[in-house]
Amino acid sequence: MSSNQNDVVFFDENGLRTDGRKPDEIRPMKIKIGVLSRANGSCYLEWGANKVLAAVYGPREAHPKRTQRAGQAIIRYRYNMQSFSVEDRARPGPSRRSSEISKVSREAFEPVIISDAYPKAAIDIFVEVLQADAGTRTAAINAASLALVDAGIPIRGLVSACAVGKVGGKIVLDLNKPEDNYGEADLPIAMTEDGKITLVQMDGHLSPSEFEEAMALVQKGCRQVLEIQKAALMEKFAADGNFDEVVE
Ligand code: ADP
Repeated sequence: MSSNQNDVVFFDENGLRTDGRKPDEIRPMKIKIGVLSRANGSCYLEWGANKVLAAVYGPREAHPKRTQRAGQAIIRYRYNMQSFSVEDRARPGPSRRSSEISKVSREAFEPVIISDAYPKAAIDIFVEVLQADAGTRTAAINAASLALVDAGIPIRGLVSACAVGKVGGKIVLDLNKPEDNYGEADLPIAMTEDGKITLVQMDGHLSPSEFEEAMALVQKGCRQVLEIQKAALMEKFAADGNFDEVVE
């Protein structure tokens, strides 16, 4: 968050944001499921100007063997930002930021993946950020959720993620890059289909009442994302001729 946030104009005279959205509107999302033939499941997702690719491998025997767990599969999640994905080249390889995002994203999925069905196995989720424009961790979680379904991994439901924040004194959904850079707060969350929050992070400051407002709004955002994810699954499985399996 920048200290020169007061210099930035976040809303026009009609109350619309720099990209023309209303405060409670998410950016357009495009999804294609099953884009990688060598992964067990995959998904390409665009959200505004973010472009991410998720690949799921497994369940397969966990290696190294010492990582295996007798009664369940281990879940690994790697979020990686390509150096060409940002305006100034991002330093390749793991960073504190990517390690943190990988950890919290894995934890966002742990409650929904039925891991005890696969003792000693590993389920690997890889996400590559190809183009970043704020909200990449939430875009990645949304893509990973669909790649898990595409891989046939048993899950209790989809995970949907969205960010909310405060810019120019207002609570807004799904921050874009200028809002993320110069806004007062950014709060990404992930939520299960039955409404359990599995990830909450916060950068910046919100009062308790603003936090409540933000949580209510972001849950609406996650519900919108969930509908888009479900529509993408319907499209994919209808095209594959397995429509009935998905809607049951
Ligand atoms: P998120 O992408 O989940 O919102 P951050 O809040 O950490 O995560 O990052 C916001 C945005 O800042 C990213 O989407 C990206 O556009 C940009 N960004 C993040 N890391 C870097 C980096 N190492 N170099 C350049 N830009 C970056």
